[in-house]
Amino acid sequence: MAKYKLEYLWLDGYEPVANIRGKTQIKEFKSFPKVEELPWWGFDGSSTRQAEGRSSDCMLKPVAVYPDVARGENCAIVMCEVYMPDKKTPHPSNGRANIPDDPGAWFGFEQEYFLYKNGRPLGFPCGADNFPYPQGEYYTGVGYRAVGSIAREIVDKHLELCLAAGINHEGINAEVAKGQWEFQIFGKGSKNAADQVWVARYLMMRLCEKYEVDVNWHCKPLGKDVDWNGSGMHSNFSTEYMREVGGKEYFEALMAAFDKYKNEHIAVYGPDNHLRLTGLHETQSIDKFNYGVANRGASVRVPHSFVDNNYRGYLEDRRPNSQGDPYKIAGRILQTIQTVPLPAKKAGKK
Ligand code: ADP
Ligand code: MN
Ligand code: MN
Ligand code: MN
Repeated sequence: MAKYKLEYLWLDGYEPVANIRGKTQIKEFKSFPKVEELPWWGFDGSSTRQAEGRSSDCMLKPVAVYPDVARGENCAIVMCEVYMPDKKTPHPSNGRANIPDDPGAWFGFEQEYFLYKNGRPLGFPCGADNFPYPQGEYYTGVGYRAVGSIAREIVDKHLELCLAAGINHEGINAEVAKGQWEFQIFGKGSKNAADQVWVARYLMMRLCEKYEVDVNWHCKPLGKDVDWNGSGMHSNFSTEYMREVGGKEYFEALMAAFDKYKNEHIAVYGPDNHLRLTGLHETQSIDKFNYGVANRGASVRVPHSFVDNNYRGYLEDRRPNSQGDPYKIAGRILQTIQTVPLPAKKAGKK
């Protein structure tokens, strides 16, 4: 038996953006614990905007576990859902509980964010009126002028930590604004990629503590009146039916449903999105829905491969922003997909 440090993580009740909270408990296990072996735990919900002081207990149900290599040997990160004290009713803040179960659903999230120091993006000169060279050379750039001196060390360490935890990173890149970066995470199943995005966010924030750097997840931290990009979290998605059957008729029905529920989607695609979805900077405006092949100014971008493959494959919803909750985003996308009936099989075909 060995003593394990288990960091239980959950999302608090703050609106419109939940914070990640975490606390450690020590338990003995023979080997690295499976999620089914991890006990429920509780916390004081009155300190996290999840309960009144008079009856303050909330319950933590472990739903995923990852090795916490950065912390040391025998350490784990335990992602949890929050439940009411009856352990049956999901807490209203628990968006994960509302994601339809669909093992055939796949998600790929492209998380953009800014690294900040002293209230300014990392590498910006001091003084609120001082800006670095205008955008152009930063995206995928190299050299001190493009990325400064510590950003690359941070993003590389983060990548290593995530890979060691078993997070399915697909890549990272420097983004269009100075101090802005992206990582991409892919996962099979309706909840898996979203769990991993939250753990990756947590690891980034924890890593940055020792650099005295903040992670700014806001979608337009420099405001909408300057020529500096905002941050999105493009959400790529597919179901088994989309990948294996698809077809133009089904695709058009799907897009009609996305149009019909556009307000419901925007409601969970992150706060302040009107500052970002302006119709400029590779975005569609917030009150419109459209789709287009390889169109980075559309709400939903249809990859060339999708059309070439007889409308089979994945689609990219470009509207979710960097501060959106991937649980709520994945849940909404799957709820809308479920409103679209699958076309009846053509007569004569098996
Ligand atoms: P871009 O920046 O051109 O929009 P990226 O390469 O950053 O594209 O991201 C594309 C994302 O699409 C990746 O996260 C990838 O995992 C995801 N993806 C690829 N195939 C599928 C699929 N079949 N279902 C869901 N997501 C997918
Ligand atoms: Mn990308
Ligand atoms: Mn990007
Ligand atoms: Mn994209």
